[in-house]
Amino acid sequence: MDLSYILNELGENREEYFNAVAPPIIQTSNFAFNKVNDLRKAFENEASAYLYSRGKNPTLEILAQKLAALDGGEACLVFNSGAGAIFTAVLANVKSGDHIISIEKPYSWAQNLFNKILPRFNVTTTYVDGRKTENFEKAIRLNTSIIYLETPNSWTFHIQNLKEIARLAKEKNLPGRQKSILTICDNSYCSPLYQKPLEFGIDLVLQSATKYIGGHSDLVAGVLCGTSQMIDKIFQSEYMNMGIGTTPFNAWLMIRGLRTINIRLEKISDTTLKVVRYLKQHESVEKVIFPFDEDFPQFKLAKEQMKGACGLFSFIIKAKTIDEIERFCEGLQHILMAVSWGGHESLIIPGCASISKKDFDPAKADHRMMRMYVGLEEAEYLIADLERGFGSM
Ligand SMILES: *Cc1c(COP(=O)(O)O)cnc(C)c1O
Repeated sequence: MDLSYILNELGENREEYFNAVAPPIIQTSNFAFNKVNDLRKAFENEASAYLYSRGKNPTLEILAQKLAALDGGEACLVFNSGAGAIFTAVLANVKSGDHIISIEKPYSWAQNLFNKILPRFNVTTTYVDGRKTENFEKAIRLNTSIIYLETPNSWTFHIQNLKEIARLAKEKNLPGRQKSILTICDNSYCSPLYQKPLEFGIDLVLQSATKYIGGHSDLVAGVLCGTSQMIDKIFQSEYMNMGIGTTPFNAWLMIRGLRTINIRLEKISDTTLKVVRYLKQHESVEKVIFPFDEDFPQFKLAKEQMKGACGLFSFIIKAKTIDEIERFCEGLQHILMAVSWGGHESLIIPGCASISKKDFDPAKADHRMMRMYVGLEEAEYLIADLERGFGSM
């Protein structure tokens, strides 16, 4: 399916709403029926009808069709956060006694789920360095039910080989195992425009739509995509039970965001390369960590698996004291110090904000790490701002 068709037309039945080019926000809780039989059918299968907006809603439906097509999946659910998509995807596929294998340092709220919530229900997690597929193989147990991935990881930028891991998870001839292991991949970093994990054989793909899908830092949402069978099972149970879907208004904002996602990502990719090049030659920068940089250790795999790399990367700043890093950050006039990413505005987070000031150790590279996100500003504008930051150190 053409990307242009997905972003501009798919799911939109304009003749149903006055040929309006932009779809309506169907801001309603419930839907009325004329025939008892139609109501009966809706009760029998809530996925088949508009009954109540905790389930299906027409504005969400337009968005869901577009997002499923972007991921190359059969169906998808849109959540009121990326964290909600993670929680639901995992919860729907484990039972007491199960074991999960996760990459090291997955998104922080995935970690909280694995470390704090699931152990209460007797589900344990083993973390592995995902850069080597054999590490997953070694960690598989008879009760392993999920392999949880995030590639590239939005903090370490480590990459997992999706094709190899999907194949491993589907092998039934592992010693003593009867059934294959479900693979889930957090694809927030690339968005479906730059990486399609389902095409590599991954079972469920999710992403924070707060990032590039919304794209304007004005909403929080998440997407989960897979086969109709898997998604429908989750819809009929965990999704309806938790009441975790996005709202019609936010769905409308995401449809609006999607109209420009291709050109936003192109612009961001272009600017990011310029900013990375500037940082790499800077005397106050020890190293830049960016998947599409030739010096990135997994550059070859990144190029094979990803169509693009976009705006998120990190760099290690040369500093002897934490005060120098603080002066750098506070000397920036345009690049905002904030979490999240994927919007129009460039952002920075110093790694040292996660430690107490007295624990700062300049020998530790992660204490001097800066995570940067390049937004839609011009490269020269951002480079001048970074120069101002370095000048303030
Ligand atoms: C932001 C983010 C999430 C969580 O998404 P929310 O929409 O903030 O709940 C999950 N994974 C990654 C990699 C993220 O960057």
